[in-house]
Formats: sequence, C-alpha cells, structure tokens
Amino acid sequence: MAKKETLSPMMQHYLTLKEEYKDAIVMFRLGDFYEMFFDDAVKASNILGLTLTGRACGLEERAPMCGVPFHAVNTYLNKLIKAGEKVAICEQLNTPEEANGGLVDRGVVRVITPGTIIEDNILDDKKNNYLASVFISGNKFAISWIDISTGEFNVVSQKFDNSSIIEDLLLTIYPAEIITDENSFKTLNAFQSVNINKLPKIQKYLDWTFACNTAYETLLKQFNTQSLIQFEIDQDKVAISAAGALISYVIDTQKRELCHISSIKLIKNSDYMVLDSNTIRNLELLESSKDASKKASLLGVLDKTCTNMGARNIRKWIEKPLGPLRHYPAWEDTWNGLPYNISKEINLRLDAVEELINSTAIRKNLIETLSQIKDIERLCTKVSYGNPSPRDYLAIADSLSCIPKVKSLLSLLNSQLLVDLNNNIDELNDLYQLLFNSIDEDASAIIRDGGFIKKGYNQELDKLKNAKNEGNKWLAELEAREKEETGIKTLKVGYNKVFGYYIEVSKGAIDLVPLRYIRKQTLTTGERFITDELKQIEDTLLNSTDLAIKIELELFDKITKTVLSYIPRLQSLAKSIADLDTIISFAQVSLNNNYSKPKINEYIDKIEIIDGRHPVVESLLKNTNYVANDTLLDNCINRTMIITGPNMGGKSTYMRQVALITIMAHIGCFVPARSAEISITDRVFTRIGASDDLAYGQSTFMVEMLEVSTILLNATYKSLLVLDEIGRGTSTYDGMAIARAVIEDVTQRIRCKTLFSTHYHELTELENSIEGVKNYKVVAAEKNEKIIFLHKIMHGGTDKSFGIEIAKLAGFPKDVIKRSREIQKLLKNINLTTQKQTEDLEIVEIAKDNRLKDIIKHIDLDNMSPMQAFVQLQELIDISKED
Ligand code: ATP
Repeated sequence: MAKKETLSPMMQHYLTLKEEYKDAIVMFRLGDFYEMFFDDAVKASNILGLTLTGRACGLEERAPMCGVPFHAVNTYLNKLIKAGEKVAICEQLNTPEEANGGLVDRGVVRVITPGTIIEDNILDDKKNNYLASVFISGNKFAISWIDISTGEFNVVSQKFDNSSIIEDLLLTIYPAEIITDENSFKTLNAFQSVNINKLPKIQKYLDWTFACNTAYETLLKQFNTQSLIQFEIDQDKVAISAAGALISYVIDTQKRELCHISSIKLIKNSDYMVLDSNTIRNLELLESSKDASKKASLLGVLDKTCTNMGARNIRKWIEKPLGPLRHYPAWEDTWNGLPYNISKEINLRLDAVEELINSTAIRKNLIETLSQIKDIERLCTKVSYGNPSPRDYLAIADSLSCIPKVKSLLSLLNSQLLVDLNNNIDELNDLYQLLFNSIDEDASAIIRDGGFIKKGYNQELDKLKNAKNEGNKWLAELEAREKEETGIKTLKVGYNKVFGYYIEVSKGAIDLVPLRYIRKQTLTTGERFITDELKQIEDTLLNSTDLAIKIELELFDKITKTVLSYIPRLQSLAKSIADLDTIISFAQVSLNNNYSKPKINEYIDKIEIIDGRHPVVESLLKNTNYVANDTLLDNCINRTMIITGPNMGGKSTYMRQVALITIMAHIGCFVPARSAEISITDRVFTRIGASDDLAYGQSTFMVEMLEVSTILLNATYKSLLVLDEIGRGTSTYDGMAIARAVIEDVTQRIRCKTLFSTHYHELTELENSIEGVKNYKVVAAEKNEKIIFLHKIMHGGTDKSFGIEIAKLAGFPKDVIKRSREIQKLLKNINLTTQKQTEDLEIVEIAKDNRLKDIIKHIDLDNMSPMQAFVQLQELIDISKED
C-alpha cells in the first residue's frame, strides 16, 4: 500500500482507522453511502456483487472503491456476515458545519460479527444467535455462550479429557462465532477431531481478557454486583474466564455498555438429560436430516407457539429435556431435609399441559392473547443499544396491554406450574401507562422529524404544536387574501426545504404581481415570492417546529431512561411468556394429535409403551395409517431388544419412536401412545444409519466405530441406547463379531436399556445365551413374490431380510433381479453343501476317534516286546493321519 503521507487527508484518516480493524471490512460513511476502499473494496465487491470503482486519493492510481447506500445497509451486512466477515461501521461523528470547513470526524461505532448481530432482518426470529467462548485450563474447561439480541448468557464448566467433548457441546449450542485464548486454541488444535470442521472457525481473542482476575472484574462490572455467588460461579475459575472474556469481546465490538445482559446461568449437566449432537441429529429433534427443514422434525411437530420468545424457548426445551443425573441410584437421597423428587419439574409441566388440554375456552383465549404479544426480549435489546424507535415502544405497550388478560385467564387454572407462572408475571402497569400516555399510536419508526409524542403528554409541546396548526390556518387565510387583492387566481402558497415558504405565481400572471412581493426563485413555469407577512408566519412556524422536535427528542430520551430501568422486569416477563407459550403449544399439539400423559418418576424402572407411534412419521403419513407398536424395556430380563425383519419394515422408525417418546416425556410433553410408563433416563444415545463424513476426513465405518465407542464409554444403566445395524460397514464376520460383542457389553456390563436392529439373523441366538436379551421382529408378508409391510413388532426372530424384493421395489432392472435370485439360490446351496461336507467330515473324525480309542483300550503293554510296542504306536499314528 502507498505511503500514508502522499494520500489525501480523508484517506489518511481512513487508513488510521483501518489499522485498528485489520480483520474487519471497514464501512466508511460518506454522506448517504458507506464506502469501502482498497482490499476491503475488492473483497466486498466480490461478495456483494458490486461494481468496483475508484476514488482519487492523492496517488497516481485511484483507490479501489465500492459503496452501498446507508438506508439499505442491512441487506449488504447480511451477505457479508453470512460470508463469515466482520464489518466495522464507521460513522461521521460531527456534521460538516460543526467541522467548520475542516475534516469531518469519523469513528467506528460498532463491529458487527456473526455472533453479535442484533438486526431484525438478519436474525432468525425463532432461533437464538450465539457467540461462544472456550477456555481450557489444566483438567477443566468452560464454554460460555451469549445471545446479545436477547440477553441470554450461559456457562458450562466440566472436566477436560479431550477436545471432542468440547466440540460436541459446541455443536449442540451451535454458535455463529467462537473465541478462545492462545493456549486453549493450541489444545483444541492438537486433537485431530472430526467435529472441529463442522463448527465456525475458532478465533483467538486477547489472552488477558481470559485472565481470571480481569474476567471476574469484567463480570462484576457488567452485572453491577459485588460478587458472583448468586450465579453459582464465584469459585469456578474456568467459568469466570470464559464468561468474562466473552463480555470483553462484546463490549469491544459493540462499543457500548449493554444493560440487558444482567445475569449468567450456570448450566449443570446434572439438571438435564444429556443429548449429544449425533443424537439430536439422528433423532431429527430440530431439523430433518434429509433437507434440514424444521417441518419433518420433532420441533416441527411440537412447535405451535405463537410468540417468537416461545418459539426460541421450545427449541431449548427439546434440546435439553429434564432429568438429572446426580440423584440416582440413591432414591432415598434427601435434599434440604426433604425427600428429593427428581421428576417434580417434569410432572409440573405435564400437569399444566393436562389442565390446559381440559380447559378448552381458557386455552383458546390464551392463544389468542399471546398471539398479540411482540418479541419483548429483542425489544429490550433495542432499548439497551440506545436506538429504540417510537414504534418499538408502541410494541412494548401493546404487549403489556395483553398481560392483565393473560393473568386473569391463568387465575382460573389450578395446576402448580401455571399458578407459579401467574404469580411471576408482572403486569408492569406503570411502564404501560407511561408508554400508552406518551407515544402517539401513529408514530413513525423515525424519530428525527418528531411527531411521535402523544397530545396531552406535555403542555409546552402541545402549545408549540398548536402554533403549527394555527400557522397552517394563517397560511390558508393569507393565500385567500392575496388571491383576492392581486386578482391572481392561480396564486398559491407553498414550502420547500431550501427556500422555505413562498407565494408562487405562474408565468402568465407575473404582470399582476404587486411591488411588495420580493422575488425568491425563478422557475420555467413562473416565479416564487415572499412578503413580510409570509416571512413572519414562516419564522413562527419554523421556530415552533424546531422547538417542538427538540422537546420531543428530550422527552423520548427521558422515556428511554425509564424503560431502561424496567429491562430486568421486562426480561423476566418475557421468560414467563415464553414458558407459558411452550406449555400451551404442548397442550394444543397433544390434543390435536391424540397424545397421552406419560407416567414418569424415579420409582419407575422400565420403559413400557402401549400403542406407541412415531410423532413425526405419523404426522407426515397422508394416506396410510401409522401402525402403533408396544415396547417393554427394563433393567432386568428385558434389557436388550434385538430387532430383525425386512428392509423397509420399520425397524429404524420403531427404535426412534421409543427414543422420541422417552425424550418427549422428559420434556414434559404428552406422548404419542395409548399409555406410557417411562423411567428417568440420563442419556439417550443413538447410532443410526451410515452417515458418511468423507468431507471431514472419516470413512463411514470409522464414524460408526467412533460413535459406538463413545456410547460404550459413557452409557450408564440409566441410559437408553438406539443401535441401528452396528457392524454392517465391514466384512460380515468382523461386523457380526463386533455386533455380538457390543450386545454382550451393553447387556451384561452396562445393563442399560437397548434397542438393537440388525440384519445379522445369527444374533437372535443370543436370546438363549444372554439373560436380558429378547428377540423382536417386524412382520411382513410375502405374496406372489411381492412383499407387504405390516410394520408390526412382535416377539421372535426372523431369518429373512427381503433385500431382493426391496431392490425390485426400488426399480432394479428385471435381469439384475433375476440374476440376484439365481445367486441367492446358489449361495444358499453352497451354504447347504458346505454344511453337508462339514457334517460328513465330523462323522469321519468321530469314527476315527472311536477306532483309535478302541485299539488303545485293547493294548496289553505288559505282554509286548519293545518292537511290538513300536509297531503298535506306528499303527496309531498312521490311523490318526488318515483323511
Ligand atoms: P432398513 O432395514 O432398510 O433400514 P427399516 O426396517 O429400518 O429399514 P424404516 O426405515 O424404519 O425401515 O421404515 C421404512 C418406512 O416405513 C418409513 O419411512 C415409514 O414411512 C414406514 N413405516 C415405518 N414404520 C411404520 C409404522 N409403524 N406405520 C406405518 N408406516 C411405517
């Protein structure tokens, strides 16, 4: 790049700023445009599809440049952020007038990164957007994550064995951006893990911000508090480092204090059922694995929420079902002197769902009322950022106007959770009154031009506005009078920003203009004039307008300060609304889909489902009825279900259905079954399908083995395992051997509940040799070489997979099918022949053994010479060598 001194002053200013933001694209405000220069311009023009132009910059060659209009900047920001870029917004900090002929001062007011977006039209309303930090120290690590668009801030700290656990946790959080310190960066990179490539690139951030003392101070300042005890992280050094550095990064990029981030939640694994990223994906909890759509997922079926807050919340509930690890197996444990009922929270949700199902009118009314509530969480963020619009305040006021109705409806219900929610819901009547009285219903989104404060809110303002209305009357009167006096019928009074008020006279009537008219502007169609009287009216009008705008802006500032002080209460209201919305959604879906209330508590040690259905497959089947199936799994004689049956028979669907019903019960939702008794489950593990990870450098079989290995290392007897066709990615004998060893291990050592589907029909023999293994088969019928799927699960094993019939269904060429059948027969015959040969061989061996035994029995060693003994021995050796 050129020497700075030879550049124009403005370009020098630009480069000074750019030096501070080397890793970002600097958008430099010039009038109504944001301009980008040099390398930034080249990069941005590529990403945004803009024409690259040039700007004289004091050098021989023009500086590469491209720009976007300031009012449309969000569209361009969206593209740059999606392309993984950071954008530093550089604004004019004073006006050309204030600069008094000198250089307008400019500065970066915010750096927008993928994890720090707050723009409505870039964010997904129904999903959180997280920024995460990772900190590893010794044998511990912490991950902290924040959504600055809602104020949600979490941290988790755990034992560190290897980086895969960190990556898996990050995958379940799915942050848009990840930061870490130098040391942790090295540690993370030292492990060659599969998952690291599925995450956004991990960036290094300033080490000192992770230092425990600094991070502690950062958090105290952010939360405006003296200690972190109330957040349960006061002694947790790694958690403090990760969380504190995250706040430093947020302040550093956002360049302001953000009061809506006022607390942090320590997420304890022990409070939730653990679902790793594989399981979330395999069970299609949040999106379908085929096309990543929400529709064909559990979330798609369960989400009938009517607020954005509810939509974001239900996603979190599904990802984190309740079900603590720490409380078993000692059921008689006490907590605070009371028997600890670990299923209490789940059952509070279930009872609330049940009551809402049974209270049709209240539920319908609640749905109608909640539908009018806006995104209070994200509105709080706008206030905290200092750029709310009058419309945002109207949205808050409209939402608050619904709260009394929500409360009165909830007061008609008795289940504990709904009673508690009602007690927690704060009407915020003072705030409502303030906003209702102060903001005009017709206010525009822009505050610059005023006109948003309601009549009656401020007397002085009303007077000034009256003067404006009066002025309009004076103008109308003046126009009428001048027409009369001059006889110019086409004369009219007008206004424009440059010349102010004027009297316009068309060309044809110019001769009639009196001398007292002073010419202001000449047009092709006529002339514009001013008179003393019009000048006077103009002064009154413009002064009162300017003054009125000034007062409105002052009042708006005051209102904003008040709203800021209400943010914690608004956030707590938003949380209650989100919870209520989620529970109502569960109730509505359970009712629509004929779900039933599961029994779930720590005294149940089995999963017993009668007429269970797969919630998603059921909802997608149009013309076919879903075939319901039963399940019985316990930690006793029904630990492992080996499921065999034809391809396409419904084995995978069935196994997922059991896992989904178990998860739904732990979320506190009714389940698709006639009845269900579900034991508290610490984790659901899945190994499903042959998901290739070739793009990430792993073979299909290696991925399978990695997943199975994680399961065997981490499952406990309280876990539910779904293992779909383990071992099929390698040679038959290796695969079968691995499958068998896995079944033995999960059934005999871990003793957890396992669903195991396989096409290795030989494995069904295990029912006889391992206690706890039970055979089940999916039934199918065969008619005229055609297979009919019955999708019914029954006791017993099968020895047919109907693979060729499925190939036929899939449209294989006839010849290939015919040849397959021939080969199938041939293989069967070879099998039979091999079996026959083996049997013959066995007979020969037995006969030989018997002959040898017979000879040995009759040997009389005492009466034999050494020579005779030698001959006898030689005979025995010869017989043993016979074929
Ligand atoms: P494969 O052994 O080839 O993997 P599978 O036995 O695992 O097959 P699934 O994939 O579970 O079979 O089921 C195949 C299809 O059958 C599903 O996509 C679904 O449309 C239908 N199906 C499965 N179970 C049922 C059921 N209980 N009722 C109705 N349709 C079902």
